Amino acid sequence: MTARYAAPLLTAFALSAMTPQLGAQQRAFYQQTEYKGQEIGKLTGDVYYARMDDYVSVFMVTSEGIVLVEPIGTEFATWLKAEMGRRFQVPVKYVIYSHSHWDHASGGAVYADTARFIGHENLLKNIAMPPASTPLPANMRGQDKNGDGRISPDEAQGNLKTMFSLYDANHDGFLSGAEIARGPIEYVKAPDLTYTERLNINLGGKRVEIVSRPTGHADDNTLVRFVDGTNVLFASDWITVHRLPFGPISPDEIPGVRAVEAMDFEYFVCSHGKLGKKADVTASIRYREELRDAVARAIAAGETLQQAHASVLMENYKDWEFYDQQRLQNVAGTYRALTAK
Ligand SMILES: [Zn+2]
Repeated sequence: MTARYAAPLLTAFALSAMTPQLGAQQRAFYQQTEYKGQEIGKLTGDVYYARMDDYVSVFMVTSEGIVLVEPIGTEFATWLKAEMGRRFQVPVKYVIYSHSHWDHASGGAVYADTARFIGHENLLKNIAMPPASTPLPANMRGQDKNGDGRISPDEAQGNLKTMFSLYDANHDGFLSGAEIARGPIEYVKAPDLTYTERLNINLGGKRVEIVSRPTGHADDNTLVRFVDGTNVLFASDWITVHRLPFGPISPDEIPGVRAVEAMDFEYFVCSHGKLGKKADVTASIRYREELRDAVARAIAAGETLQQAHASVLMENYKDWEFYDQQRLQNVAGTYRALTAK
C-alpha cells in the first residue's frame, strides 16, 4: 500500500443531500463504513475508480467510449453518468456486472441509451423470477400475519420493510414467495451479452478481459482485467483489501485467491473499501493461510469452536477493517470446514 492510496476519502461531496431520489435504492440501504461520499479518481493510464461510500467501481476511458464495471445503484449511476459525460465527452459503451447482488448490479438502466450489459450466464438464472408457487421462506412466514401467503406493506418487517419496492417486481403492493426468493433486484437490468468462461472486448484499441470465477459468494462472479497500458484487476466482494473477508470463509477458497494472485496485474480494486495493489491480494492469502493454520492448531489441541473463538485472535490483523465484525465468523467457517474433513 503506497502513500498515494492511504489518504482518507473524506473529500467527496455530500451528494445525497443534493441529488433527488431516483429509484428506491436509498444510500442508507448500502453497507456503511468510514468511507463516505461520491468521487472519481485516477488509478493509472485511462482507468479510473468511482466511489459511492464503501462501494467502488472502475471504468476505462477510450476514444470510442467508456467500459464500466458495476453500476452500483440508480442514484450513483445518475451522478456518475453526468460526471463522465462532463469530463470525458464519450458515452458508456459497456457495463460489466461482477455478480447479480442488488447492491452492485442495480441502476444499469441509467446507461441503457448507449451501453450493452455484460454478465455471466448464471446471472440470468439468478435474476429470473422463481415459479409463482414458491412459498414464503420459512424464516419470513411469521411476518404473514393474516396467513394469505404473501407479505403486505403493513406486515413487512426488517429488510422486507425497508426494501419493499426492491422486492416487489410486479408492483402489486404485495411480496410473494417468489419475489422474496428472487431478492431485492427490481433495479437490476438483465445483461444482453452473456458469457460462460471468458470474454474479451476491444474498444478504442484497448482490451478488457472478462473472466468467470464462481465463488461461494456468487456463482455468477466475474473478474475484469483492464489490459492495455493499465494492468488493473477488479474483483468484487470476495478478495478484500486490508479488511477481513466477509463471513464464514473456508480454506477451500485459498486456491481460488492464489489463482487470482497469479494473474498479471498491478492495481487491484475490490468492490469495497480501500484501493489496493497485488500485494494486498498476497496479504489476503497470508491471512487466510494463517487463519487456517491457527484453527488447525486449536483443533489439534482439542479446542471446541467456542475455545477457538477465544484463542485464535489473529493479532497481526487487528488493524484490518472489520476485525471486530468478521473474526469470529472467519474462525467459525474455518473450524467447520476443517472438522468436516
Ligand atoms: Zn455480493
